[in-house]
Amino acid sequence: MTNEQRERITTMRQCGIGYIKIAQELGLSENTVKSYCRRQKSVVTTKEETTRCAECGKLIDISKRSNRRFCSDTCRMKWWNKHPKADMPYTAFCVCCGKELHMRRKGERKYCSHHCYIVARYKDGGGND
Ligand SMILES: [Zn+2]
Ligand SMILES: [Zn+2]
Repeated sequence: MTNEQRERITTMRQCGIGYIKIAQELGLSENTVKSYCRRQKSVVTTKEETTRCAECGKLIDISKRSNRRFCSDTCRMKWWNKHPKADMPYTAFCVCCGKELHMRRKGERKYCSHHCYIVARYKDGGGND
């Protein structure tokens, strides 16, 4: 592999281009590109467009959505199951069923679920929200 090819792989990976496409573009095998990228991983991690999944530690791309904290919905659910009240310093009670609620901002939620919201609206004739 030439230095130029290495540079192009790095640039293309940073643009989010897949291994197969890069391999075709540079006339290399997919495995060559992959193993090169694997060795370069430590370099890529220092870039600011990436962060680590709060659950599994996997590297995630945050160039499009900077508030991402998890690599997948599965990890997000796992994490929230372990930390159900994290980031939720405020508590209140569902105005419909009385269940305890946790919220990020005071007064953010009035109902424990969409179901309670609907039920409460029916009870009030829909006008008291
Ligand atoms: Zn994850
Ligand atoms: Zn409720």
